[in-house]
Amino acid sequence: MIEIKKEECVSCGLCAKACPFGSIDLAKGYPELRECRQCGACVEACPRKAIVIELKKTTLTEHRGVLVFAEQRDGKLVEVVYELLGKGRELAGKLDEPLYCVLLGRDVERHAKELVGYGADKAFVFEHPLLEERLEEPYSKIITALINEIKPSVFLVGATDFGRSLAPRIAARLGTGLTADCTFLDIDSEKKLLVQTRPAFGGNIMATIICPNGRPQMATVRYKVMKKAVYDPARKGEVIKRVAPNELLESRVRILKETRRDQKEDVVSAEVIVAGGKGLGKEGFRLLKEFAKEIGAMVGASRPAVEEGWAQYEQQVGLSGKTVSPKIYLAFGISGAVQHVSGMESSEVIIAVNKDPKAPIFDIADFGIVGDANEILTELIKQVKSTRRECI
Ligand SMILES: Cc1cc2nc3c(=O)[nH]c(=O)nc-3n(C[C@H](O)[C@H](O)[C@H](O)COP(=O)(O)OP(=O)(O)OC[C@H]3O[C@@H](n4cnc5c(N)ncnc54)[C@H](O)[C@@H]3O)c2cc1C
Repeated sequence: MIEIKKEECVSCGLCAKACPFGSIDLAKGYPELRECRQCGACVEACPRKAIVIELKKTTLTEHRGVLVFAEQRDGKLVEVVYELLGKGRELAGKLDEPLYCVLLGRDVERHAKELVGYGADKAFVFEHPLLEERLEEPYSKIITALINEIKPSVFLVGATDFGRSLAPRIAARLGTGLTADCTFLDIDSEKKLLVQTRPAFGGNIMATIICPNGRPQMATVRYKVMKKAVYDPARKGEVIKRVAPNELLESRVRILKETRRDQKEDVVSAEVIVAGGKGLGKEGFRLLKEFAKEIGAMVGASRPAVEEGWAQYEQQVGLSGKTVSPKIYLAFGISGAVQHVSGMESSEVIIAVNKDPKAPIFDIADFGIVGDANEILTELIKQVKSTRRECI
């Protein structure tokens, strides 16, 4: 609740200056707050205490259920949604509460049944031509309105580029907390709280975060860190079509042009990754790319290798890069720093090549070769080529 004590206001304008969102209009001689995020900056700035913001008290017990944002891109559900449904189903089971989904877009209703098959008890669908373009403003307004209506206790969003931009806007509108980039989620069964774990302090510690006073408890979740839900075509659930009011569809942003990243360089979906680190050097990276081409693998890299310009940022694996989970991950000249490992440790098989037998990468590797990575790559390329020649 916001109260403006007009009799106290001297129209000094300090509140408008302090507002980081430009939401204060002083045209009438006293502040009018539009689309206020309730950050409280104006309250602190006002020397006459003419603005009072009383944060809405959430009644925790009235919140039930786990809501998953079913993000779509170009009319297709993005991969992380299936993982959120897998985790969402597990959390909802532990809470003994329903699992909901919310899907927005144009002509996307066909996916709603699929969401039910993947575990949703109720799938809310908002369809409109204006929702085809994924714009944070209408999406956040519509989802906020839905959350205020159905009151879930947990809300999960994929840590995609769009999800990372959308989730904080919704959290701010709802006045609740948000834990970004979670790698592990669970329920504290005694307190019925969402336990959210994510790397902190440069990945050197894993922080466990709870949100005891705000609802819903919001988390963004990285791609490829949680198990996908299993599809059951016989699963029963409800598909609920909704119409978003026109005022929620409005956006101050228009997308004029979109430039797509080269998907060929995207390591996230690769089944085999050959990754290189600082120990490989520029020439080693040339060999690495040749080897990757020979075996049909994608090239990944550690952060120093990207900083040296031997690989693109899109190829960086780790805390500040991509999280990958290929069938085989080959690491050449990578030490195995915690920030790198956090992005690839869920790979099915890890093979490490390092000249230092004490390199930490060997602690998580299934197979390790102690030796010079450049020499080993040269030999591997030779072997692959000669095997191919024999086959021909
Ligand atoms: C906030 C933060 C985020 C970060 N995010 C990331 C991230 O996303 N991804 C990432 O990778 N790092 C990240 N880092 C950096 C990380 O801490 C490490 O510095 C980095 O992973 C080390 O990269 P590296 O293993 O290639 O290099 P180094 O640590 O220098 O290791 C090189 C390795 O190569 C071996 N070697 C040298 N020569 C040879 C040879 N001829 N043959 C075989 N082995 C050889 C050495 O024994 C050594 O083990 C981050 C750091 C911070 C603080």
